[in-house]
This record gives sequence, structure tokens and C-alpha cells, in this order.
Amino acid sequence: MEAKDFIRTQVVEDLASGKHSRIITRFPPEPNGYLHIGHAKSICLNFGVAAEAGGECNLRFDDTNPEKEEQEYIDAIKRDVHWLGFDWAGDTRYASNYFDALYDYAVQLIRMGKAYVDSQSAEAISQGRSTLNGAGLESPFRNRTVEENLSLFEKMRAGDFNEGECVLRAKVDMASPNINLRDPVIYRIKKVEHHQTGNKWVIYPMYDYTHPISDALEYITHSLCTLEFEDHRPFYDWLLDTLATPAHPQQIEFSRLNLNYTVTSKRKLKKLVDEGHVHGWDDPRMPTIAGLRRRGYTPESLRDFCDRIGITKSEGVVDVGMLEFCIRNHLENTAPRAMAVLNPLKVVVTNIDEVLMLRSACHPNLPELGEREIPFTREIVIDAADFSDNPPKGFKRLVPGGEVRLRHSYVIRCDEVIRNESGDVVELRCSADLDTLGKNPEGRKVKGVIHWVSASAGVPAEVRLYDRLFTQPDPEAGDDGFLGCINSEAFKVVQAMVEPSLANAAAEDRFQFEREGYFVADLVDTKPGKPVFNRTVGLRDSWGGA
Ligand code: ATP
Ligand code: MG
Repeated sequence: MEAKDFIRTQVVEDLASGKHSRIITRFPPEPNGYLHIGHAKSICLNFGVAAEAGGECNLRFDDTNPEKEEQEYIDAIKRDVHWLGFDWAGDTRYASNYFDALYDYAVQLIRMGKAYVDSQSAEAISQGRSTLNGAGLESPFRNRTVEENLSLFEKMRAGDFNEGECVLRAKVDMASPNINLRDPVIYRIKKVEHHQTGNKWVIYPMYDYTHPISDALEYITHSLCTLEFEDHRPFYDWLLDTLATPAHPQQIEFSRLNLNYTVTSKRKLKKLVDEGHVHGWDDPRMPTIAGLRRRGYTPESLRDFCDRIGITKSEGVVDVGMLEFCIRNHLENTAPRAMAVLNPLKVVVTNIDEVLMLRSACHPNLPELGEREIPFTREIVIDAADFSDNPPKGFKRLVPGGEVRLRHSYVIRCDEVIRNESGDVVELRCSADLDTLGKNPEGRKVKGVIHWVSASAGVPAEVRLYDRLFTQPDPEAGDDGFLGCINSEAFKVVQAMVEPSLANAAAEDRFQFEREGYFVADLVDTKPGKPVFNRTVGLRDSWGGA
């Protein structure tokens, strides 16, 4: 195992010193939304460290908030982890698996005089804890007897109190400068059904109490989490030092991933979905793993991205261009090439009457991808942007009377431009130089090369052009927050014409459309013979450019 960051360095040391003989990590999502690119960082770290050390990684749903959690999210999270290329050890775990054990540990704390039932209001508790000068305010209920606490806690469990009437608090240190140690609440009453435990419980343990004990019960060796939990570590350790748990995992914090032009918070992503700003959690504009997948990202590209950003303790913002670089880099060397005309303009090649079947390699450097047939016919389409009768300086594509090379095909000359009543160009009449297949024309140079598709043999296809979801590098910076800088141009649909070899593209087949970018056959809407393509990313970084 390579000690390539401070966490792996620690793991290598713990194996070398014999502190641990087997490494066990866990990925602990709360099932209250879909996973996003930030979670991918945590997944790659936890599963990666375990795999490199020959150990195991558990998937544990942190399901202590029943009303915000749903089965749909559990299913999506499992699907996304598998898709990223990882598998967890044994069964899927749930913090709720440990509700009985957590209850017993709470009773133990009470017996030790280390927990008490507080009957103050939530506001009073929070005010008492959050005094900034000096010690917090002790609750008048802090010194209830063990017997009284045991009986009240049992009544909480039995449903004898209403929500908010009382809570169980750990008795740690109201004078601590760390607010997390000022007698944190460890159980509260919630009379709601739970997706795993049904109506068995009306009291639910808090995250800060549940997490360390769940880690210990699973013999986790290294509990890796993001920096905001650093201040919670003293309570994590207090709890495991106080209770006789089977293990005492080491919590280690790392910095979360922040990406520009992106929001990575499930709460905000949920808002985008619920308010209809996007078409669901897997909308290809979303930074969710499901969205990135539908956009055409590969698991390899996301793992490569996580590897490149690395693991540190310093907060920073990663350029989303790095993510785009990773997918281009992967597809450049794997995706077959194809031709698709996104904005078709009809061209009649007047000296062609029959179908000329041309062939071309699917990838210039990967002969194993084979060849495909490309029919050249009397009627073809080119992209409207590849013709101009008022060309800007340096325009190398088709102009009236000019010549251009059709990719994988002949050189054509534009003989006639046909317009409709409003003066728009609707058709070009061209002639092909039949002596130019695979060779330069005699006595003249033709510089431009454009792509094309047979109009009669090509396949009409819906193509969805995606771009960045936000116009601002920091979507939160403006007055209206992230909802105020949604990029209205981030989703456009065009009716394209694609080469016949793409007719039977299967969902998630990926291609480089020559001169256009990388595209994927949509996972949801592609039907046999009727592909729908999503633009994953352009060929080069053009954001903010022309
Ligand atoms: P969000 O703020 O989006 O709701 P969260 O931290 O509440 O995220 P959890 O489901 O609790 O979401 O996270 C599961 C794991 O993923 C945690 O260990 C968390 O630290 C980690 N994680 C979440 N967001 C990021 C991020 N942006 N970068 C790295 N790790 C992250
Ligand atoms: Mg969370």
C-alpha cells in the first residue's frame, strides 16, 4: 500500500506497528438524497484504503432521521456505489441495526451517572449549551438520580411522553470550551415510523451518539470523515472511552471536495429537484453520481478525478475543468468516433446517383474497435455552421464556389446556393471530385474538413446539449444564492442526423462525435433503433470562450 496521503500514511504505520492486522473502513451516507461528486471522494477514499490494505469497507446507512429518509435513496446509493466500481463487505448495514445495542449503552451510561433525562425545552437546552462567555448553564434536571433517570428513560421508550417533552443527554462537561462536550443530547422522542424498524421505536438516537458506537460495533479501524467533524471527535472519544465497546476506532478528518460552478449539498440539490429547476436527481446537469453517469461520465473518470485531487486537510475549491479533463482523457482513448450533424443543412451532390459505401476505422489508434460502413449518397447533410456565404476572415469551411473535404469521403465544391422566400439558405448544390477519396486533389490545396451524414441513410436522433448548471464560479456568492445563477442555456435539445452505424447504439454507449465532442446514448430514453444522445463534454475547454 502506497502512503500517498496522510491517511494512508497512518494506515501503513498502524499495520507496521501491529496496532491493526486488518483494516476496516466504512462509508456512512444518510439516505436523505442522492450521492454527489463529493461523496465520490469519500467513497474512493474509504473503499480505496480498504482495498489497498487488503481489508474491507462497510456500507452503513446512517438512518437516525426517519422522517427525511426514503427507500428510493437507499436503492440509489447502493446502485451508485456499485457503479463506481466498489463493493461493500457483507450485507448492507444500517445504524438502525444497532438501535437495541444503542439503547442498552444508553442505559449503561445512566447507570454510570453519565447520562440524564432533561425535561427542559429544546430552546432552553440549546441556550444553556451555547453561552459564549464562560461555562454553559447546567440544566436544573442534571442531577436527577440514576433511578429516576432509568425510569424516565424507560417511559420515553414506552411512548409515555410527547415529542419535545424530554430528551436524554450525556453528562460530560458543561464548562468545556467545546460545545459538543456540553452535555449533548443523545436521544430524542420522534413518534414517526422508520423505514427499517417500522413502529418499534418512538425514541431515536442522535448522530453523534450513534456514529461512534456503530463504528465500534463493526470494529472499524479508521473512521474517515470530513473536517466539520473535527470538533465532534472529543465526544466520539469520550463515548468510546466511557463505554465498554468492543473497539475504539480512530476518527481522522480530511477536507471535503468543493467544486466551482457546482453545489454539493444534498439539501440544495433536493431543492433543485423539488422546485423543478432540473428534471430529477439524475438530470445530466446535476453533480450527483446518477446525473454524472447519465451525462456520460465513466466510473474510471470519476475515480481518476478523485485520485488526482487527493486527500488533504486544506480546504480549497477544485476547478470543474479538472473533472471535464478526466472524462475527456478517458474517452479520448476508448470512445469510437462517429459523425453526427447537430444542425443539419441539406446538400445535394449532383454528380452522385448511387450509394457509395465508404469505410472508416472506428478509432484512429484502436484497430480493435473495428471499422464501420459510411454510405455516401446524393443527398447528405452538413452542419449549417460549416457553410457561409459571408465568411469571416480565416473561414476554412464551405463557401459559394469553394471546396471542402468531407471527412472520410470526397472533396466537394459548392456550385449553387438555394434559399427560401425569407432568404435563408435551405440547400446547397455541390459536386464531388471523385478522384479525391483518400488522396489530395490534383493541382490545388483544400484546407477545410467538415463532417456530414447521408440524408437518406442517416438516422434522425434527438441530441441533448448540456452545459454547466450555474453561470457563476461560486454559485452561492450572489445575492440570490445558487437559485439566482442557474444557467438557462445549460440544456438544449436539437434534432440531429447521425450516421447509420449509430442507429442501434445501446444505452450508455459512448462516442466522440467528430468535431463536436463526447456523447453518450441516454440511459433512460434510448430505445432500439431510436437513440437519444447526451453531450457529455466538448472536445476542449471552451467555457467563457467563443
Ligand atoms: P451533504 O452536506 O451533501 O448532505 P453530508 O455530509 O451530510 O453531505 P452524508 O450522507 O452524511 O452527507 O455523507 C456521507 C459521507 O460522505 C460522510 O462521511 C461525509 O463526510 C462524506 N461527504 C459528504 N460530502 C462530501 C464532500 N463534499 N467531500 C468529501 N466527502 C463528503
Ligand atoms: Mg450528513
